[in-house]
Amino acid sequence: MQSCDPDIDPKRLRAAIDALEGVFSAVVKRAQERGDHLVNGNIGAASWISRTCGMSVTSAADRLCVGEQLQSLPRIAAALGSGEIGYQSTSVLCHLREVFHLRMLCRVARHVADPDGFFNEAEENYLRRRLHVSLMADGMHAIDGILDPECGAALKTALDALANRRGPEDGRSHSQRMHDALGELVHHAMDEGRLPRRNGVRPHVNVTTTLEGLKGEVGVPPADLELSLPISTRTLERIACDATISRVLLADSMVIDVGRATRVNSAPRRRALRVRDRGCRFPGCDRAASWSTPHHIVAWTRGGPTNLANELLLCYYHHRLVHEGGWQVIKTGREFRFLPPERVVMRRARGPGVRWAA
Ligand SMILES: [Zn+2]
Ligand SMILES: [Zn+2]
Repeated sequence: MQSCDPDIDPKRLRAAIDALEGVFSAVVKRAQERGDHLVNGNIGAASWISRTCGMSVTSAADRLCVGEQLQSLPRIAAALGSGEIGYQSTSVLCHLREVFHLRMLCRVARHVADPDGFFNEAEENYLRRRLHVSLMADGMHAIDGILDPECGAALKTALDALANRRGPEDGRSHSQRMHDALGELVHHAMDEGRLPRRNGVRPHVNVTTTLEGLKGEVGVPPADLELSLPISTRTLERIACDATISRVLLADSMVIDVGRATRVNSAPRRRALRVRDRGCRFPGCDRAASWSTPHHIVAWTRGGPTNLANELLLCYYHHRLVHEGGWQVIKTGREFRFLPPERVVMRRARGPGVRWAA
């Protein structure tokens, strides 16, 4: 590297300096561990580095912290060395980690010295737990809350297990994947039918629409999603793929007849689909059958048959990708092909009138 070359790429130069800062941090940390500062008559390593290297004590302490933390952060160290992240970002990460460890040590020490006080403090903190789910003006929901350590760790562990990237076409951010993981978890809990009954029925989401709405006719009002705002026709069609349906007849806004609730997919057909597909059929997807729902290639609302030839299992994420995301499923012999939106040549339409539970 030419030290006086004014034409050098500043980005590459900064990356090289930052990588050297990482090396410097490792070197001074190693010197501290050997006790080099003691040999030279200094009690503190930071002040010795400050004098020896002509930098402030604060900067020297920062390098010692980074040097120590990077010993157990090999991926961060490698990213700093390759110029993937800068020194300042690395330093922030290392200091946060140090603070976290310090807090952890404080809590350990507190428990050792005063277990009753530790318990009382934890119970006081427990009183602060709360969770609010509020409907916003645009139909989205806002979540605000504080979770206790156990609940928070359990939620994060469960969401992390479901929030992986689902293939090369998956361009979702981490926070979007965490949101979708929560949706998948909640729907799985309801689909399994193991939640306690409320007012004699299993918890479910109610959608109300008309016969025309279900057919997707032009000019009809959107379907109503209980506890939320109206939903799009594509979302309605997705929910219709695997729902329990009740026909409600009205006359002058008066209910005159309520039909028997029937499931779009009978229990034997669901079992047959699970045996055949064993899980989501989207290529590369790892979701098992119990985490997948039946999807109609040709929607039953527009005459598509509810049978094995017209159905396949899709997980929560890929089912949405097919309906709202515009992907198309094509059956070729025993296999299914998935076409991304830009290759789909025809769109769907739809079919009867009613109220159903997904
Ligand atoms: Zn579907
Ligand atoms: Zn899938």
